[in-house]
Amino acid sequence: MPIHSRGHRKQIFLFLIAVVLPSLVLVILTLRMISQERELAQKRASEERRRLTKEIGQHLLVRLEKIKLHEASATANQNQFPVKSDYLNPEVVLIAQADENKLLMPWDTDQRRKDFLQIVNHPKFAQKIQRAEKEEFVDKHFSRAAEMYTQIMKTAQDPVQQSYTRLLLARVLSKSARDKEALEQYRKILMLPSDLVDEYGVPLSFYAAMRLIEAEADYREVAQCLRVALEEKNWLSPSASYLLQELVEILVKTAPDASLKIEAKETQRMIREYIQKMEQVLALQEDFPGLALLARQGSQGQKKEPLWVPYGDGSWLVSLASSLKESSPLVLVVKAKEILTSLQLEVGPFSKSSIGELQLFTGIGSEGESLGPNFRGMRVGFTDSQAGEKADQWSMQRYFYLLALLLVLGLTLFGAYLLLRDIRRDVRMAELRSQFVSSVSHELKTPLTAIRMFAETLRLGRSRNKKIRDEYLDTIVNESQRLTRLLNNVLDFSKIEEGRRIYHPEPSSLSEIVHAAVRAMKYPLSQQGFQLHVDMEDGLPDVRVDRDALEQAILNLLNNAMKYSGKSRDIDLRLKKKDGYALIQVVDRGVGIDPKEQKRIFEKFYRIPTPENERTTGAGLGLALVSHIVDTHGGRIEVKSALGRGSTFSIYLPLEGER
Ligand code: ADP
Repeated sequence: MPIHSRGHRKQIFLFLIAVVLPSLVLVILTLRMISQERELAQKRASEERRRLTKEIGQHLLVRLEKIKLHEASATANQNQFPVKSDYLNPEVVLIAQADENKLLMPWDTDQRRKDFLQIVNHPKFAQKIQRAEKEEFVDKHFSRAAEMYTQIMKTAQDPVQQSYTRLLLARVLSKSARDKEALEQYRKILMLPSDLVDEYGVPLSFYAAMRLIEAEADYREVAQCLRVALEEKNWLSPSASYLLQELVEILVKTAPDASLKIEAKETQRMIREYIQKMEQVLALQEDFPGLALLARQGSQGQKKEPLWVPYGDGSWLVSLASSLKESSPLVLVVKAKEILTSLQLEVGPFSKSSIGELQLFTGIGSEGESLGPNFRGMRVGFTDSQAGEKADQWSMQRYFYLLALLLVLGLTLFGAYLLLRDIRRDVRMAELRSQFVSSVSHELKTPLTAIRMFAETLRLGRSRNKKIRDEYLDTIVNESQRLTRLLNNVLDFSKIEEGRRIYHPEPSSLSEIVHAAVRAMKYPLSQQGFQLHVDMEDGLPDVRVDRDALEQAILNLLNNAMKYSGKSRDIDLRLKKKDGYALIQVVDRGVGIDPKEQKRIFEKFYRIPTPENERTTGAGLGLALVSHIVDTHGGRIEVKSALGRGSTFSIYLPLEGER
């Protein structure tokens, strides 16, 4: 294995250890740090959520229990169970009574209905009514019956009895076609307060309203009466509400004028809303046993822990409250959302931190945090409105880290690259120098050996042949000239390196210099069988040059042409004028130079690493010197070459006053 390739591997190995490995560790550590930081933030957020949930649960319970107590005591203060549907706390939807596992609605427990039955069934009054009804239904004596009803009405003590009898009187009057009188009575009934209800919880005025609408009379008064019944915000029994809805719908359809119609429509909206609520309440009544609220309440002896249960997709919260008056407990229904909102108003927003908006979850699922044992199946969640923003922040941070990391890595790699380049250059330089020493020694050895060999032969005086002796002497002279050239090259080079090379330019004839070079090379050329074709233009002006230096440059080029001619034995040497320059060209038809190498051949010590070159002697200094000499004379050197086709080296020297 070549030494430098092993060194190369070592360098790469060191580079990996010194740069890539720490960089890799840095990358891994950074990524780990990022993920750890993220985990920490998530953990913190979930802890914050848990803490908040606990806080919310406590506040919610306090608030709900306060409402419960408030409403229970208000209920206790009333002498009858409230039929009002607007409670002290606006969040309350319903207060009802629990009987065993049954939920008794306000209209179920409505005392007025019981009172009505009791009053109407009073024996004396009932007897009278029975008699009159016999006259009306059995004997069909309508006028007689009407008289009897009028009589009963007058003598009746109780307003309920009076109103009830008036209703019967109106009925018999309309039967006996005394419509006007009948309507008169109905009008009076319409004026009755809406809390005068029959055993079905239907206000008596609603019946009158029905008759009046049928008779297409008193629309305005009827509308007014219905509106008032709604605005009083009493719990209407289902029968009463459906009747009311029907009446309002007829009104909307038949109202004679626009303003009445608008008003009727508003009443219609109100009654629809009411019926919606009532139907949900009815559904709750049905589902109430399933809520199993009483089971918790049943464990006596222990302190009763309050329990709130969500109902209707979590829009309501239901709980039991012990009634302060009766044995059966109260059932309290509140609106969950309103409670949360009012709670936030009271104690300030819970989710002011970055964990998101508050949301209540019920039913199955695992979203959110449990609100604790006082709230069955209820969880609080935080819809993270800022999730996107946070994710953005994260990715920004990550990008920042990665960018910083990339920068550090980039700088490290760049620094390492510079260092490596320097080191390689130094190593290469050292290699070149050692190569130079061996090349120079080798090149010195060849002529020295030849000189010694021929000189010794001559000294022995073996050869009597003058021609041969002359040839030997020529060889000796020639080889010593070659030695001189080589030493000149080396000495010049070292002078150049030290900045001590001084040129002595003087006006000289280029053709003379070229001739001198040709003369110097004549013997070696002919000895190796080269044909040198010299082509010189006449009349070239003198040029200020250092003669020796320029001759040395031409000799170097000729020498190279010989060395790299391969099998070719033709070399051209030209001198001509071109574009204000004197052009000296050395052309060979030898091995040629790869275009990729053409730039580098002028570098000091550089030799194209081909097997042929290894065999030729050389120190890689010749062209470096030529280049230096030409540069110093303000000229330039060019090479044109193709592999296998030979090379043309051209020295351009400026001709004074010609450009
Ligand atoms: P040296 O000849 O001592 O190696 P040079 O500086 O004179 O050094 O030449 C540098 C390299 O350029 C040579 O090693 C050779 O590969 C290449 N070179 C120079 N002249 C020629 C030429 N005429 N033909 C082909 N290659 C050449």
